[in-house]
Amino acid sequence: MSKNILVFCETEAGAPRKSALELLSKGRELAAALGASLSAMVIGAADATTLGSYGATTVYAVSGDASSTEGVVTAVQGAVSASGATVVLASASALARDAFPRLSARIGAGLVVECTDLRVDGGRVVARRPIYAGKALADVEVRSAIALYTTRPNSFPLSASGGAAAAVVAVSPAASAGTTVKLVEVLAPAGATVDLTEAERIVSGGRSLKSKEQFDAVVRPLAASARATPGASRAAVDAGYAGHGDQVGQTGKVVNPTLYIALGISGAIQHLAGMRTSRVIVAVNKDPEAPIFQHASYGIVADLFEVAPALQKEFQKALL
Ligand SMILES: Cc1cc2nc3c(=O)[nH]c(=O)nc-3n(C[C@H](O)[C@H](O)[C@H](O)COP(=O)(O)OP(=O)(O)OC[C@H]3O[C@@H](n4cnc5c(N)ncnc54)[C@H](O)[C@@H]3O)c2cc1C
Repeated sequence: MSKNILVFCETEAGAPRKSALELLSKGRELAAALGASLSAMVIGAADATTLGSYGATTVYAVSGDASSTEGVVTAVQGAVSASGATVVLASASALARDAFPRLSARIGAGLVVECTDLRVDGGRVVARRPIYAGKALADVEVRSAIALYTTRPNSFPLSASGGAAAAVVAVSPAASAGTTVKLVEVLAPAGATVDLTEAERIVSGGRSLKSKEQFDAVVRPLAASARATPGASRAAVDAGYAGHGDQVGQTGKVVNPTLYIALGISGAIQHLAGMRTSRVIVAVNKDPEAPIFQHASYGIVADLFEVAPALQKEFQKALL
């Protein structure tokens, strides 16, 4: 049977999320190296033109509930069986983090989570993922017939193939008995910034901001000027300066931006676990011994209340 790589594409307002298109871009490279075909799956209606332009030749449009874990497990299982896929890729979103371990158990497929790279070596997919809270990287191979991988958003560059619209195959898996979750309401987050997990730029503030008012007056305007998403350390969240959805770290969100600016954040291991794979880290801290400097691409030993407005002015000039 011919090999097939299937990408689970999450959508937002009907359009594929950027993280899904990144995965298709990477999937195309893997498919070429494996001599496999590349297909996509969506829950609901398929944007066959966009998915085709990123290299999917077929898109499986699966009926089901995209908002519940159970719905996603059933839908991806249906698409795996319809497509005969042996490699399944998904972005490590909150939903996929919940659904893929269950899918793995249900279909007996090996799963590698939070990958930051995928490559083909000797005809097999090799996944690279951080271990020990990001202190080391492990290369992992899956030996089961079907292999599942979740990857961190922003790990792969977007590259369109300019391909024709994908062929659409409708799939209607039977809903599994015992589904107990029903979507009641979707609450949009306050502010219209890109979600932290997909953001290309993040400006995060720590306990040193000292109040919600100062967090709002310093971190958010700098983030806006850099077209970045605001984030926070747990200490800042616990103190009420920012919301729980803004927390970066082991018990918050794992982020992987091109640029991460840490304002007055010490660099505790639990914070690093959520952001150390960022491509460029800029740390502003008064204490030259702060652990964050060991991981920073650029370190500024200074008072954040002086540095942040100066950076803001420069971003405003540069990004006019
Ligand atoms: C189980 C567990 C899970 C955790 N999960 C997370 C998590 O997900 N995310 C997370 O962030 N933390 C997490 N933590 C907490 C973590 O251990 C740290 O306590 C937290 O990250 C510290 O936040 P902070 O850097 O803002 O504060 P601090 O450690 O207090 O650091 C403040 C820093 O600001 C600097 N500073 C002060 N004033 C200024 C100024 N004016 N200008 C410049 N620099 C200044 C100081 O030098 C200091 O380095 C977790 C802890 C545990 C035990």
